[in-house]
Amino acid sequence: MVGATVPVHGGVLLDTTAMQGIIAVDAISGLVEVWAGTFGPALENELRARHGLTVGHSPQSFDLATVGGWVGHRGAGQYSTRYGKIEHIVAGLEVVLADGSVVRTGGSPAAAQGPDLTQLFVGSEGTLGVVTKVWLKAHPVPSSEQRAAYAFPTFEAGLEACRRILRRGATPAVLRLYDAPESQRGQGGDGTYCVLLVLDEGDETIVAATMAVVADECAAARDLGRDLVEKWMHHRNDTSALQALTRKGFVVDTMEIAAPWAALPRIFDEVRAAMLAVPHARAATCHLSHSYLDGACLYFTFAATPPAEEVEATYVALWDAGQRAVLAAGGNLSHHHGVGLNRARFMPEALGSGMQVLVALKQALDPTGVLNPGKMGLPSPYQEVQWP
Ligand SMILES: Cc1cc2nc3c(=O)[nH]c(=O)nc-3n(C[C@H](O)[C@H](O)[C@H](O)COP(=O)(O)OP(=O)(O)OC[C@H]3O[C@@H](n4cnc5c(N)ncnc54)[C@H](O)[C@@H]3O)c2cc1C
Repeated sequence: MVGATVPVHGGVLLDTTAMQGIIAVDAISGLVEVWAGTFGPALENELRARHGLTVGHSPQSFDLATVGGWVGHRGAGQYSTRYGKIEHIVAGLEVVLADGSVVRTGGSPAAAQGPDLTQLFVGSEGTLGVVTKVWLKAHPVPSSEQRAAYAFPTFEAGLEACRRILRRGATPAVLRLYDAPESQRGQGGDGTYCVLLVLDEGDETIVAATMAVVADECAAARDLGRDLVEKWMHHRNDTSALQALTRKGFVVDTMEIAAPWAALPRIFDEVRAAMLAVPHARAATCHLSHSYLDGACLYFTFAATPPAEEVEATYVALWDAGQRAVLAAGGNLSHHHGVGLNRARFMPEALGSGMQVLVALKQALDPTGVLNPGKMGLPSPYQEVQWP
């Protein structure tokens, strides 16, 4: 998504997928030890079939991605409002450092023995160490599931319902609110309303209570029935429409960010306006995809039709406009795609003085700069990378 694995200085690319499979399961605690190169389906199929467990992490890239990749860029699954992002699911790591030494982090449900070293490596995008083993928290396979869909007159009204649901303590696995154009494009809308899809799974009593809170907070919205969720389940991992646009010469990409609830309405308005002000921009749309007690992730999709010689400049301008509008309005740089190359130039702005801490960590753990050089805006002993 962000060029995180592109070897900009040449060098050696590590393929981790020979480190494959579940190593051990502690069924009493619900803990799974897995090799970092394991793909999502291999992990989930065996966990469900042999142990009656699920980790609940289901990114759109589920079939293509490894556990180490999930950890590497701090990913989020589509059911994250119940199961959490990967940083909430990880219980510990085994990491090989740049000097070849091996560290083991985590190992208890909570701790007060200094900072959490597991979280130091989660999201480090291969710049601080190579993750070889991962311990993940697992849940019983859900015994119950419920679905619902609602139509809101405005995105802001839908946002407010989502906020109230989360503030009351309900965490439905899937809570996805689409703006009017996206509702029309993929959720059966007619362009005049915003669709909210809801799905929860787990223990029957918890699911029933969660969906009762959802129904309560969506009482003023139009009930769209359950079929829309079924439809979403079938096409949720299909990105062929975006690929078709790229083949036609459109500049298309997506940008996901997180912000507190109070900042989201402004970000929704200002980011779309900033992107649409870029020459040749054709569309900037948005949906909410992951929610928390204090805020949520907004996921923007944008498209432009520049002449061939302006494709790259338009792409850069769209990212500059969108990302800077997010940062100015109180959002962050990324919710789950990470930084890689594409967002590296924004890191000092996004982290502020925290960037010095990250640079110091990099220098301490990888003094010769061999681990994924040129990424995340970190200094590199090789030549500066001009990207894009
Ligand atoms: C169509 C599509 C849909 C996507 N949908 C989602 C989504 O819903 N949610 C989401 O979170 N992401 C999504 N992504 C982004 C991303 O592909 C995935 O999230 C995925 O988890 C990355 O895993 P990977 O194994 O492909 O890692 P890679 O892309 O190979 O690596 C990702 C980063 O992690 C580092 N890394 C990988 N393995 C290790 C390791 N063992 N130790 C240390 N660092 C490591 C790499 O250096 C790199 O910086 C999507 C991508 C695509 C193409």
